[in-house]
Amino acid sequence: MTLQILYQRMSEMTRPLCGAGCAQYMGRTNRCCERKYCEATRRFVATRYGVELKETGHADLPFMGEHGCTVEPHLRPQCTLHACPINFDNCLINNRALFDAYMALRAEITAEEMAQGKVPELIA
Ligand code: SF4
Ligand code: SF4
Repeated sequence: MTLQILYQRMSEMTRPLCGAGCAQYMGRTNRCCERKYCEATRRFVATRYGVELKETGHADLPFMGEHGCTVEPHLRPQCTLHACPINFDNCLINNRALFDAYMALRAEITAEEMAQGKVPELIA
């Protein structure tokens, strides 16, 4: 299966978790988006796909559009993979089925990324 499809599935899993309630950045328009993550996305797409992403003109976040991020889920892997309810909030204990589904999909993505030489960098 292509990374585009796998990441679309991941986005469908993580996006509603953030949408259901973001305790950490409640009330902040772009929640946890930061320029450093946009820059990581820019580097990822340039080095792994040889493409230069088009900026939106947003003052702080180069790829934030009027209706959210303009980058496809598979081209911003670090952003798509992260959702606090899974990564920080004891999802393993609170919702084992969701945690297992996430880990299975993530394993599939990682295997495909390694096969294709598209493993993203770690962001500090
Ligand atoms: S990843 Fe965490 S901080 Fe970011 S929007 Fe989702 S719940 Fe909020
Ligand atoms: S989701 Fe989009 S706008 Fe937000 S940090 Fe990632 S690349 Fe930037």
